[in-house]
Amino acid sequence: MDLAAFGRRTDGGVNRQALSGEDIAARKQLISWAEELGYRVFTDAVGNLFIRREGQRPELAPIMTGSHLDSQPAGGKFDGVFGVLAGMEVLQALDACNIVTDRPIEVVVWTNEEGSRFSPGMTGSLAFAGQLDPKDMMTIADESGVCFGEALADVEKVFADLPRRPLGFPVSCYIEAHIEQGPVLEKANCNIGIVSGIQGTRWFTVTVTGKAMHAGTVPSRMRKDAFRGALSMINALSEIMIDKEDIIRFTIGRVVVQPNSPNTIPGSVTFTVDFRHPDPVVLSLLGDQVVRICRENAGECGIDIQETLTSPPITFPSWIVEKIANTAQALGMPNMVLPSGAFHDALSMSTICPTGMIFVPCAEGISHSPEEKAEPDALAAGARVLAATIAEIASSSEP
Ligand SMILES: [Zn+2]
Repeated sequence: MDLAAFGRRTDGGVNRQALSGEDIAARKQLISWAEELGYRVFTDAVGNLFIRREGQRPELAPIMTGSHLDSQPAGGKFDGVFGVLAGMEVLQALDACNIVTDRPIEVVVWTNEEGSRFSPGMTGSLAFAGQLDPKDMMTIADESGVCFGEALADVEKVFADLPRRPLGFPVSCYIEAHIEQGPVLEKANCNIGIVSGIQGTRWFTVTVTGKAMHAGTVPSRMRKDAFRGALSMINALSEIMIDKEDIIRFTIGRVVVQPNSPNTIPGSVTFTVDFRHPDPVVLSLLGDQVVRICRENAGECGIDIQETLTSPPITFPSWIVEKIANTAQALGMPNMVLPSGAFHDALSMSTICPTGMIFVPCAEGISHSPEEKAEPDALAAGARVLAATIAEIASSSEP
């Protein structure tokens, strides 16, 4: 609730864009909490923050937990923030219990996860994992023309006294706590979701070209109506995406009609397809159908189809999934295993170290909204499972 003050919206939500004044204020608050508690704070070349609780063997690669502090423009109080503060709880709980771990534990704040100000998102974790060259990000501008590099320079000025670490320093494992952002846990009455992996995603942009003409004068059979073409593609796609098990995620989220005039036949329509599935085979076969179906249903119109994003599904290592499950079980917390439907920084980290995630329910599955809400007992349950899991892993110098 204290962090939600930075970027507070009048409707109760939060607007804390990456590297904005609000983000800087939230970072200041977090750093002051960390320093009061005696933890050292570091940064790196893309403004990620690392809050370190020392281990008995400082030379060992740390266990990392955390998430992000940036929000959507009309965002909520919990997305990202929960993972960061749950990490802070872990550090404090270990101190309170006088638990000394072999490995250091670090709470990370990843820069620009949401991607709503500077696209693409997950900048901090992707750069850390070597999946994104920070140089390519620096010239990306927000809506007002401010570049990522300029905004980052402002942040660096404020936190100039923080020591710098190299991108991609060794991490022994990464466990991120996050609100589920979907309705499954709430429906199942589980406070703990053990995340099995992150489903795969394919995005397409389809442009249908017809001919803009007068709506009153041109007979139907002489038209090249781009909307009519798009509609039959979308209907055919919806047909093949019907899934009795309800695992397929298929969304037409954006439709742009040109010239978008009530009495003009649409000359062009551009629409997006967001298709996700946890099974790589389904993702590949059904995803390829998107292209075929659109071409087959173009009718009299022209068509251009681009795949704009391909992200294969990932599966978290079973030893992490089992460890979290055993911990939840030992604490007597109702839990279930589920895949993540959304992207998280954990996706980047899974490319460089063993990674896992813990979900807690959010009301009605709503997120990216001022209405986003999570119950204190669920948040506490998630933090407890995170703490117990990390304490156990950090106490051994394996893996
Ligand atoms: Zn998030």
